[in-house]
Amino acid sequence: MPAHIAGQLHATPAPVWLPYPDDVNAVMPSLWSDNVAKGDDGVLTIAGHPVTELAERFGTPTFVFDVDDFRSRAGLYRDAYAAAFAPEKGLSGVDVFYAGKAFLCTAVAKWVHEAGLGLDTCSLGEMMIAHAAGVPGESIGLHGNNKSLAELEYALDYGVGRIIVDSLDEVDRLEAVAAAKGVIAPVMLRVTVGVEAHTHDFIATAHEDQKFGLSVAAGKAAEAAARVVDSAHLRLDGLHSHIGSQIFDISGFQVAAARVLALRAQIMSDHGVDLPDVDLGGGFGIRYTSQDTPIPVAEMATSLAEVVAKECRGLGTNVPRISIEPGRAIVSPAVFTLYAVGTVKEVVTDSGVRTYVAVDGGMSDNIRTALYDADYSCTLANRNSDAAPAVVRVVGKHCESGDIIVRDEYMGADVAPGDLVAVPGTGAYCRALSSNYNHVARPGVLAVTPDRVDWIVTPETYSQLFANDPGMADATRQ
Ligand SMILES: *Cc1c(COP(=O)(O)O)cnc(C)c1O
Repeated sequence: MPAHIAGQLHATPAPVWLPYPDDVNAVMPSLWSDNVAKGDDGVLTIAGHPVTELAERFGTPTFVFDVDDFRSRAGLYRDAYAAAFAPEKGLSGVDVFYAGKAFLCTAVAKWVHEAGLGLDTCSLGEMMIAHAAGVPGESIGLHGNNKSLAELEYALDYGVGRIIVDSLDEVDRLEAVAAAKGVIAPVMLRVTVGVEAHTHDFIATAHEDQKFGLSVAAGKAAEAAARVVDSAHLRLDGLHSHIGSQIFDISGFQVAAARVLALRAQIMSDHGVDLPDVDLGGGFGIRYTSQDTPIPVAEMATSLAEVVAKECRGLGTNVPRISIEPGRAIVSPAVFTLYAVGTVKEVVTDSGVRTYVAVDGGMSDNIRTALYDADYSCTLANRNSDAAPAVVRVVGKHCESGDIIVRDEYMGADVAPGDLVAVPGTGAYCRALSSNYNHVARPGVLAVTPDRVDWIVTPETYSQLFANDPGMADATRQ
């Protein structure tokens, strides 16, 4: 910091949740995937590959995907839930569906299927990826509040195992499509139970003011159930509830499960049908920074199983097969984004001097900070720093002052152009929500194991970026 500034002003304070680091070069293992470590030289490695080499060979910014970590977390969800919902415990089993919207490409679809998980999709594009990856239709769920005819037709042709119907209009539309094809469509109803969960809070009300699902309180869920049961071309397999994202607390799931199971009991008694499936959705929270305290997977599984068993006992019903749909919790911890630093600025603010570290990506590859006020962590990835820790703000290269990736983090104060910065926990809703803002090409996703480094999504080229602008044909001709 220039002396004339340092003499007058202190650095901006860290937020209360951010602890002063004992060693600014160390990484907190719980924020990083299993196979990430830092060597004595301060270089971050993944499955033994130094990120300095990855940056040189593959460029930055790049999403770096820890394949073995992803596969092992998929297996952890599969096994923990299978154990908690085992028939020996009086339950009826469980299906874990990976929510593909968090991040999907053919390689990920294959790994999900190989791990024995189902795959949730919510568009034609996502179904096409699953199909191309060889995932059988019966392992697929199709979501969406406004599925097109083309999507419904594709789903029936593909043999999708569950179509999660979101509205009364869709009941009619799907019935027409199924009738035209002469098939019976497997239906689950997305119901809104008046529980909205977010992080540590949840709100339980009668109504929810949002676009998804069929309201239980307003009778729309019961009306849809009656129509599906009456249809010769639709088969009602169960009910679905999804209450939010990045949830750290079991209580929202408990209220939601109780309300869904009560509705199931009502439908079964009204129509004399058995509904074999209940899907409790996704939204399991992960650790982006030290302030996040997720519930361990096995503990969450056991608590959910206890709620389901208790509610069904109270209702006097059999126990349905349960499904859950984690997206973020499986993929996010497996990925970090590797950036190169381009500029560093000391900026005088009302609360002191803030250090802005600008990297070669930004809100086009990680919109979550701008969109959801998300917090991320980061580390200097190419060397140790001997300098005192300073609170920095990592920003991107876009023409928006809200283009922030990491709002507050300690880094060695000597961070400088040419350094590498790695941001953990970027597997979910980063590449998936990426954009070409400012005509910046989107980064690729590099899958790393001890023996292999492969693109599972290649970085966008300028000819791909400009493919839809006829005036750019000459500029990109190779
Ligand atoms: C988004 C979504 C999920 C996954 O949410 P995560 O927070 O990534 O676990 C699961 N089910 C439905 C219906 C969703 O919309």
